[in-house]
Amino acid sequence: MIPYGRHTVGSDEIAAVVEVLQNQFLTQGEQVPKFEQALQRYCQVQHALAVNSGTSALHIACLALGVGHKDSVWTSPISFVASANCALYCGADIDFVDIDPLTRNMCTEQLEQKLRYAAEHNCLPKAIVVVHYAGQSCDMATIRQLTKPYDIALIEDASHALGGQYNGAPVGSCQYSDITITSFHPVKSITTAEGGMLLTNNTALYKKASLFAKHGVTRDPDQMQGNSEGPWYYQQVELGYNYRMSDLHAALGCAQMLQLDRFISARRDIAEYYHHELAHLPLRLPLPGDTSAWHLFSIELTHHARENVFKQLQQAGIGVNVHYIPIHLQPFYQNLGFKQGDFPQAEAFYNNALTLPVYPALQKDEQRRVIDTLSRILDN
Ligand SMILES: *Cc1c(COP(=O)(O)O)cnc(C)c1O
Repeated sequence: MIPYGRHTVGSDEIAAVVEVLQNQFLTQGEQVPKFEQALQRYCQVQHALAVNSGTSALHIACLALGVGHKDSVWTSPISFVASANCALYCGADIDFVDIDPLTRNMCTEQLEQKLRYAAEHNCLPKAIVVVHYAGQSCDMATIRQLTKPYDIALIEDASHALGGQYNGAPVGSCQYSDITITSFHPVKSITTAEGGMLLTNNTALYKKASLFAKHGVTRDPDQMQGNSEGPWYYQQVELGYNYRMSDLHAALGCAQMLQLDRFISARRDIAEYYHHELAHLPLRLPLPGDTSAWHLFSIELTHHARENVFKQLQQAGIGVNVHYIPIHLQPFYQNLGFKQGDFPQAEAFYNNALTLPVYPALQKDEQRRVIDTLSRILDN
């Protein structure tokens, strides 16, 4: 089976992890700061905080921004559920902004309208989680311009987009946002098995997020109430979590960082070949782009039933997938009051979407097989 996505881990990564196992520290050693520094440099951002998943990074991003009860957070319905769940973890309400059918990212016109309505009705969101779907950055300059007058915090969910660029800068530079998070799940740009990173240029936000990721416990006198009682002293000043990344995971991450550019360039080659080879078929291709990290290559069928094509590809050993079932249509979210018809562009995209395999180790003959099989199915 050719999967839709998978990790690429070589002997350097294996050696790096084994070395940590032979060291004194399996966690809270030197690998985590090293990995954070690698991301911080690569993304040209002030601060990087490694955590145990992208979901944890989203959670502490919301907490650091002060998202709580009576607040509302908006995100895109075409994302993984974690982009919305993070708001609910904090007791806030969630709402969605429909997608632009071309980019599949949050639609800036819809956002503008919804902001105007919310401003008139006194229900503006505290924060917006924008999602760089499939690896292509949202139009961050426009989104920042729209949200700035209302003082709304912006979180970039760049789980798909590490290694991509926006406006000549790496995604993660937080040029137009307060916080960017990314994920190191095995199908993402690089992997630590499970893991995530929070990036920000705001030192106060970084310190708060760090506190929430580490039990709310601090040894920094500046964060304490009253005086230190001695060199052993620490205080819990917030209700935090244990979201730390271990040194095993960080060692894998450091070794993967050395491959990031090679991985992205392989993904771009694969996307380019799909664009070239599928152009004549009855389907809608994603917008081409050499700044995308090409996490996913999602097509939309225009003349064929998706279920039928999906099954035939699976039977031919091609692990296609669908990204995503709109979050608002999940039973949990329908129980909160969302329903079919709420975000028509997201729903229309979902009805015909199909994700084709993209990962750095996908071989040319394997990709050829995907293309030929799909062409045969659609020609029938
Ligand atoms: C993968 C992913 C996440 C969650 O990341 P984990 O590391 O698996 O917790 C969040 N948002 C999006 C868009 C993702 O693709």
